[in-house]
Amino acid sequence: MRVTIFGTGYVGLVTGTCLADVGHDVVCVDIDEGKVAALQRGEIPIFEPGLAPMVRSNHAAGRLDFTTDAAAAIARGEVIFIAVGTPPGEDGSADLQYVLAVARTIGRHLDRPGIVVNKSTVPVGTADRVRETIAGELQARGVDVTFGVASNPEFLKEGDAVNDFMRPDRIVIGASDAHVIERLKRLYAPFNRNHERIVVMDVRSAELTKYAANAMLATKISFMNEMANIAERVGADIEMVRQGIGSDPRIGWHFIYPGAGYGGSCFPKDVQALARTAQQVGYRAELLQAVEGVNERQKHHLFELIRRHYDGDIAGRTFAVWGLAFKPNTDDMREASSRVLLQQLWDAGARVRAYDPEARRETQRIFGERDDLVLCDSANAALVDADALVVVTEWKQFRSPDFARLRATLSDAVLFDGRNIYHPDEVEAAGIAYYGIGRGRSV
Ligand code: NAD
Repeated sequence: MRVTIFGTGYVGLVTGTCLADVGHDVVCVDIDEGKVAALQRGEIPIFEPGLAPMVRSNHAAGRLDFTTDAAAAIARGEVIFIAVGTPPGEDGSADLQYVLAVARTIGRHLDRPGIVVNKSTVPVGTADRVRETIAGELQARGVDVTFGVASNPEFLKEGDAVNDFMRPDRIVIGASDAHVIERLKRLYAPFNRNHERIVVMDVRSAELTKYAANAMLATKISFMNEMANIAERVGADIEMVRQGIGSDPRIGWHFIYPGAGYGGSCFPKDVQALARTAQQVGYRAELLQAVEGVNERQKHHLFELIRRHYDGDIAGRTFAVWGLAFKPNTDDMREASSRVLLQQLWDAGARVRAYDPEARRETQRIFGERDDLVLCDSANAALVDADALVVVTEWKQFRSPDFARLRATLSDAVLFDGRNIYHPDEVEAAGIAYYGIGRGRSV
């Protein structure tokens, strides 16, 4: 099928590439000329494991192209995806300006029947607004073509996005028109071969499903952080508690890791946007507000441990920071806990030597040049002249450090483990003071 995708970010680029990989004929549109030019040269603007070779091979095979020419892309697409950003607006609700701008563009250029599929995460009711926007533009042009609007939220996770798209747990299609449902089932048929993964529902339910999924995952994290904070105060170890509850299949092992708070481009904004949607229909979403509140507090927790250890005397000290991305296997730093920590350390007069395997460029873009930040080329380089080590992102390569070397390098021999990736006994046996999240011994 001929597919047009608006947006070449994490979602649009992965969607376009994976659809091309199973044989569809895909063109991706973006307003960012630099991004489109880079993609045409085979340069991938984001880090996502496995994505770069797939983009290049499908581009070379002529199944995947990139353009800024929206009119031409709309003219050729049977199915047109909207996969642009929906950042938080000032009041926490999703900012739909980019989605609606694409809808206007579609309305201005659509000349024959088509299917518009919204993949961006959008509040319930947005499909209706997209439909009205397109219809308004068509009417203004005096053009009479039929078009369908569907919701098809995306559940991929950054860091494993290609795998998630190629082997989805489920594919949610929100639509009421039988023709639209049939076409989208055909589009996704290559991903639905072994057993039924497609869940068809009404548009509003599909829109809410995406928020419900993210809110549930965020809730699990905040719940565990709440437990960790209690554990810390009562002398219990949350890692033991985690093992004690995760084995219950009703609870499960996923997303019950305490840490320095969740970040990224989705959970924070989606929890907020859902709470805002609830408010707009006269419902106070108390649980969602608490999930967000606990997470905000948690992002300050690492600094609080540092402050307590040094009795507030932080000015002039140097901290090695391992991990800046909001999670491993991505370069994405949107809402990353590291940003809060770095700012707090700087505000307290400390210096930072940081290392992240992928987020160096992004860190530079966000913070620019500053005297109190040195971006290092390796984890070991970050330790040089540092007083203490803070682990913020649990990249695999940080999991088995040489503790004797850490002991010898860090002036104060202290480690703040923001993701509980080390065993306190092992660290302490090496002569290093250990602070984790929710580990009772750290009170
Ligand atoms: P992104 O910010 O990485 O990319 C958005 C892209 O859209 C940018 O390249 C931007 O230039 C482009 N764009 C903006 N306006 C445009 C226009 N009028 N025409 C063409 N291109 C335009 O965003 P993302 O992370 O890919 O997220 C996109 C949507 O998918 C969001 O609603 C997000 O919540 C949702 N989502 C994201 C993830 C994720 O892990 N990132 C997962 C599931 C769903």
